[in-house]
Amino acid sequence: MPLPFRTAIQQIGGYVPGEQPQATGWIKLNTNENPYPPSPKVVEAIQNAATGRLNVYPDPMARSFRKAAAALFDVDPDCILPANGSDENLTILMRSFCDAGDAIVYPYPSYVLYETLAKIQGCDVRRLHLNDQLNWDAGEATDLCRSAKLTFVPNPNSPTGNCWTPDELEQLLPDDGLLILDEAYGDFANTPHRGELLKQPRFHQRMVVTRTLSKSYSLAGLRFGFSIADEQLTQGMQKVKDSYNCDAIAIAAATAAIEDQDWMLENRGRILATRQRMAAELPKLGFVALPSQANFLWTTHSSGRHKDIYEGLKQQQILVRYMQFSGKSADAEGLEGLRITVGTDAEIDRLLQALETTISRL
Ligand SMILES: *Cc1c(COP(=O)(O)O)cnc(C)c1O
Repeated sequence: MPLPFRTAIQQIGGYVPGEQPQATGWIKLNTNENPYPPSPKVVEAIQNAATGRLNVYPDPMARSFRKAAAALFDVDPDCILPANGSDENLTILMRSFCDAGDAIVYPYPSYVLYETLAKIQGCDVRRLHLNDQLNWDAGEATDLCRSAKLTFVPNPNSPTGNCWTPDELEQLLPDDGLLILDEAYGDFANTPHRGELLKQPRFHQRMVVTRTLSKSYSLAGLRFGFSIADEQLTQGMQKVKDSYNCDAIAIAAATAAIEDQDWMLENRGRILATRQRMAAELPKLGFVALPSQANFLWTTHSSGRHKDIYEGLKQQQILVRYMQFSGKSADAEGLEGLRITVGTDAEIDRLLQALETTISRL
């Protein structure tokens, strides 16, 4: 007997997250985590929260965090909506604005979770294919996005690491919907934004920015993200979130993390320096690495044997992300390659060694 799932759920495969081995000894360069630990102030805040009042519910509005994030982004605390990871922000957006049959657009390749979330909601998914210069055709963008409910765009993009300009982003604005600017990697960009775009008249009330503490703040294990938008949009989205979507420990930790900008910026500096070294070394092994404004590099190898290189590294307990994206049409060439997270210098030394071994055996 068939199980009584909704048709939309029966039809999707479900999002497959990157591998998360639970044993020690792995070098993880596959899911863009920060190789450095979170601020000691975060650990202290977690300890204090754990010895505090866990028998009572947390602040449903996470006011301490909202206040801290509002100060950083120079907006009103009512513009900030905390969530259990920024993937939850994306879910809240989808449930707040999209009815079944509404259209969502996203650049392709980028973060395919948008597509999964849209399909769960029964939405129409339109891919805006990127060309070899990693850009979209402006006319096609306007055509696809004009009638969309939501357009999602990571900036910097994943897996390619490039950034789009405000003028390019403007091409993605729906007429009667919203542009969702996913700034998961925003802190690694050459000129990091602090919500300035939201204040421009062309984007005000037409855009929501999402942010995560998983990457730049080294807190992927904690689960904390937030969105920044006009107060009225944020108020509406509050109706959709779980009452207590962020727990007391996460709220305390996230507040401490965002208040310790020095810690985050210091690790950012280390990561950018290592990224530069990787970008210089990888070509010596036959790779092309795209210029990146994020904490990872998109690479292709002259051999074309990306899957084998991924497997070869895995045998040496190093995980990178092998990725494959289909082309615009059945006969068009897609994109295949390896997305490699910037680790510590020691991890990248091991990676480069292991790559040399792997490639010599191809
Ligand atoms: C990592 C990532 C997120 C979500 O991160 P969370 O861990 O759920 O906060 C969102 N968008 C992109 C593009 C990402 O890479």
